[in-house]
Amino acid sequence: MRNTNLKNEEVPALRFEVVAQDEAARAGVIKTRRGEIETPVFMPVGTAGTVKGIRFEELESTDLNARVILGNTYHLWLRPGIEVIKAAGGLHRFIGWNRALLTDSGGFQVWSLGSLRKISEEGTEFRSHVDGSLRFLSPEVSMEVQAALGSDIVMVFDECAPGQASHEETQRSMELTTRWARRSKSAFDRFQNEEADSGRANTTDDLSGRQALFGIVQGASHLDLRRRSLEQTVEIGFDGYAIGGLSVGEEKSTMFEVIEEIALRMPRDRPRYLMGVGTPEDLVEAVARGVDMFDCVLPTRNGRTGQAFTSRGKLNIKNAQFAKDPRPLDESCQCSVCRRHSRSYLRHLYTAGEMLASILLTHHNLAFFLDTMRRVRQSIRSGDFPKFRREFMERLGANGE
Ligand SMILES: [Zn+2]
Repeated sequence: MRNTNLKNEEVPALRFEVVAQDEAARAGVIKTRRGEIETPVFMPVGTAGTVKGIRFEELESTDLNARVILGNTYHLWLRPGIEVIKAAGGLHRFIGWNRALLTDSGGFQVWSLGSLRKISEEGTEFRSHVDGSLRFLSPEVSMEVQAALGSDIVMVFDECAPGQASHEETQRSMELTTRWARRSKSAFDRFQNEEADSGRANTTDDLSGRQALFGIVQGASHLDLRRRSLEQTVEIGFDGYAIGGLSVGEEKSTMFEVIEEIALRMPRDRPRYLMGVGTPEDLVEAVARGVDMFDCVLPTRNGRTGQAFTSRGKLNIKNAQFAKDPRPLDESCQCSVCRRHSRSYLRHLYTAGEMLASILLTHHNLAFFLDTMRRVRQSIRSGDFPKFRREFMERLGANGE
């Protein structure tokens, strides 16, 4: 039970503890109101209230054991809409998932609409891709929607600058993000006070049961702007910090330059989240630069287009070379798909247009991403991360495709 002697402000929404560090790589535990999350962690993306192609039982199974998944504010707000989700008692109950949920703010999705949206100081106006209606998303609306969704980790509403944006353009965008972060924080606090005792979420003795709020560092590839964005974001004060606006068309070397510059300057006692990145090798490389949390659509999206991620690199199941291949997708993977099915069978399913192809490839891909993170955590805890990283990269480099 909550200690009623403490005011909500005095009890944090989440706790983060670093339990081991190997050079810049850290292994930790995030304690949320819905269970503990060991880091570094990969969060499967559940865009519209579903991690596409996979049942929640499987996400919870020992094969995958995902501790936290993502929901997209933009998509859920447009369809089914917050009234439907509120009526169900929040997003967890609506989708049937009792573990932690992180929701993004919708900022990236509306930004991705390109010429279909209009950004002003107040927020972003755009046309819904669902019914063509004119909609308006702002820091206040995003916080209201995320409060209604009841996610455990809420993201501030931010603006993303294109990877190739000029210094001037990026600075304008970054400063807007800072002003939106301040507005997000005050709107968030207002909604938390309203919902403080709704009793919707399970909570533990030393957590307030409130939602947690993460700030986002922007600034494209301009390191001085990234540093300033970080300073301004930390000054506002958040439960965790994210690096946004990467993997949006910039060079990979630029992406790692930004991560290297920013991650280690982020508060050591808060989780560091790299948004929307990336391949298994990107994840391992970012962990080596001090990042704790990741999300990406690659394992699910590519699974649906016939691409498998393996310890020896990517494999395209459509290729004729797999027609009679009796081996599993990945000979060193222990997932239920690799234990049971051959490449030959998976290729047959895919070419026949069977939906099971997408389901099985998605399952394996998620298992591979989550298992990679599990091995990353173990290697950091045992002080073997540099060796793990070297061998992981060598094996990927040795792939036959
Ligand atoms: Zn597998």
